[in-house]
Amino acid sequence: MPWKLKCNECNTTWELDISFDIGKQKHLYIYCKTCKRNTLNDILEYYENDEKEANDK
Ligand SMILES: [Zn+2]
Repeated sequence: MPWKLKCNECNTTWELDISFDIGKQKHLYIYCKTCKRNTLNDILEYYENDEKEANDK
């Protein structure tokens, strides 16, 4: 599932498509393409269908 991450170093918001659930944690240490190194990223949310989300919540 695609997750929305935000790099703490450069404040870039980007998408990460991985198959496992990272929603239990708030941060992820992962490679940032903008910083070109591993940085701490905030896990903001995961992308859903906008229509589905509107119906669910
Ligand atoms: Zn970065």
